[in-house]
Amino acid sequence: MNPMLTSLIPQQIIEDACEWALMHGVAFRQADNTARHCPFSLAPMTMERKVYEHLLKVTPLITKLISNVSEDHGFLQSSLSDVAKADPFFGRLMELHQQAHGSAVERLNPARQPLLLMRTDFMDDRQHGAKVIEFNGIAAGMAPFGQRATEFHAFMQNQWPNVYNDWLEDPSATPAENQGLKQLAYGIATSARKVRADFNDSDKPTFLMVVQKNEDNVYDQHLLEIELQKQGVRTVRRTFEQLSCQLSSGDNQRLLLKDVGAVDVVYLRAGYQYSDYWAPELNESVCCHTLSQTRLFMEQHHVAMNATISQQLATSKTMQMLLTMMPAAEYARWDLKLEEAELVKSVLADMKPITSESIDWFNTQTDKQEWVLKNQGEGGGHCVFGDDISEQLSQLKPEEYDAWALMQRLYPHERDVPTIAVRDTQQTLVTDLVSEVGLFTAYYKGEPVTELGGYAGYLIRSKPASENEGGIHSGKGILDSLVLINS
Ligand code: ADP
Ligand code: MG
Repeated sequence: MNPMLTSLIPQQIIEDACEWALMHGVAFRQADNTARHCPFSLAPMTMERKVYEHLLKVTPLITKLISNVSEDHGFLQSSLSDVAKADPFFGRLMELHQQAHGSAVERLNPARQPLLLMRTDFMDDRQHGAKVIEFNGIAAGMAPFGQRATEFHAFMQNQWPNVYNDWLEDPSATPAENQGLKQLAYGIATSARKVRADFNDSDKPTFLMVVQKNEDNVYDQHLLEIELQKQGVRTVRRTFEQLSCQLSSGDNQRLLLKDVGAVDVVYLRAGYQYSDYWAPELNESVCCHTLSQTRLFMEQHHVAMNATISQQLATSKTMQMLLTMMPAAEYARWDLKLEEAELVKSVLADMKPITSESIDWFNTQTDKQEWVLKNQGEGGGHCVFGDDISEQLSQLKPEEYDAWALMQRLYPHERDVPTIAVRDTQQTLVTDLVSEVGLFTAYYKGEPVTELGGYAGYLIRSKPASENEGGIHSGKGILDSLVLINS
């Protein structure tokens, strides 16, 4: 065996790499307001070019589907009403949706203009090929880190070619281009200028990022802001709580922010979990009322909005299950031709609702390692694996069943060559690394809004196969990039 692969590499190179990461904003904020570099892999993952190209073809179709589903308010309300009863947060979102869009008897048309910024996450299963893990329609972050990871591996290749090549799986592999940061900003900036133009206003457009109060993932957010500033957009950040007393309406449903003026784009990096709407200081008689109404208020204005309440519902785990269980022909309702629908269906992994029958079936007739149990939670920590599934199912009350679903468990290829994972400037050898591939897309009012036909770029997160969850921010994941080989 190559001795390089049994001994770790000089610490000086690791320090160089960590300093590159910090200098380029690939970091998290710590409680004492210092930065800690984001954990990363020293060498990229490999994928067959044809698999990647297939995903590039399918992902914009998925985005078109989600975009159209999210504007089909009757369908959202009728298909998701059971989940609303089973999950209190989902119920709150459905109430907001009804406030914004009315009911079948009386439809309302809030003035917001949908800006869909989506990350579709895939795993390349050994047996079944690349399949979707989930859709992320709200707060789908880390496009900046994704682009930076590709740049970081280019830095390694240039600066430490011997090390890079030693740890690369296939010497013929070439990097997959990644403009995630630039193209996402392009999509946002283009939408912002369109909204400005709707008001015949030629001033610099304004982008409002709604953030959580004690956010530690601030550098990923700032990288996006800096790119937007470069592309001619003014950026501001506020929490829901700050916004609850700083917003007002101008002429023609213009959204106005105190001391700033008109807002053209609202981008939510908060609002995907109940706690984001919880404001103990406000002493509310109904929990979460004020901050959820703040979100609704923004939707009632002529502003490019990501995520709309509808987009959040359309990218939920339950909607993923419904779309998976539906015959391809039914996608015609959302303007997909049959061959487009079949392409989308080809990357959706089996999902099953939780019922007393499916629980029986799971407990007696299937291999527990072949399934994952998940609820509507976002942001990591909501999935149950293997033997724990039966235990979790036995604890559910029947009225909670509709909040959960079983999903076919995917087993991606493990990397053939070991990799060095770097965390807190320490290197560890990982011999069984697997990767999750997130593809970003941007659509404004149902149309692609990047220079790459709606596609923006990618985020690769890798983890040891033995770890269940691979979030970089919340789990055991490391930031990674992608190289392609011709098979
Ligand atoms: P979240 O909204 O919390 O990100 P995900 O559906 O992405 O929820 O699940 C979190 C993590 O759990 C994923 O990043 C992946 O590592 C793992 N996971 C989820 N679903 C599957 C699956 N079907 N097969 C294998 N791993 C999965
Ligand atoms: Mg996820």
